[in-house]
Amino acid sequence: MKCPRCNVDLVSTVRHRITVQACPACKGMWFERQELDELENEAFDFGEHAKGTLVPSATPTSWKCPQCAAALQRFAYRFYDLEMAFCENQHGYWLEHDEDTRVLELMRQEEKDMQRKLRVEDRWAATLRRMRSGSLLERLRERLH
Ligand SMILES: [Zn+2]
Ligand SMILES: [Zn+2]
Repeated sequence: MKCPRCNVDLVSTVRHRITVQACPACKGMWFERQELDELENEAFDFGEHAKGTLVPSATPTSWKCPQCAAALQRFAYRFYDLEMAFCENQHGYWLEHDEDTRVLELMRQEEKDMQRKLRVEDRWAATLRRMRSGSLLERLRERLH
């Protein structure tokens, strides 16, 4: 697979115990769909108020999905000030350098706020291992249409 931005070959890299495809040039990372779905499900668990802060819009980028070459769509959570791009054909998500760390930091903050006991990195790993259920993209689409 090629980097959507640099067109160089992605290489397998372990980030926070998860193997992702990363670009050696721009350090962006490709997460397959299920790897972020469960994380997003966690993010949606904060209650109805947080759910309402999802920005209901996505902007096409000039970046191409490494799997099908469709233009990636960029979207953001206003609540988290975090942007990422996704493939409309549900192949996955493109995170820029260190955005996965930002996701972890956000989860750590939630961890603190909610005083949960599990260590956050174990949660991250467990989250990504879990079977996929409802996908973020499906919910995103409901809001877009
Ligand atoms: Zn790149
Ligand atoms: Zn795709």
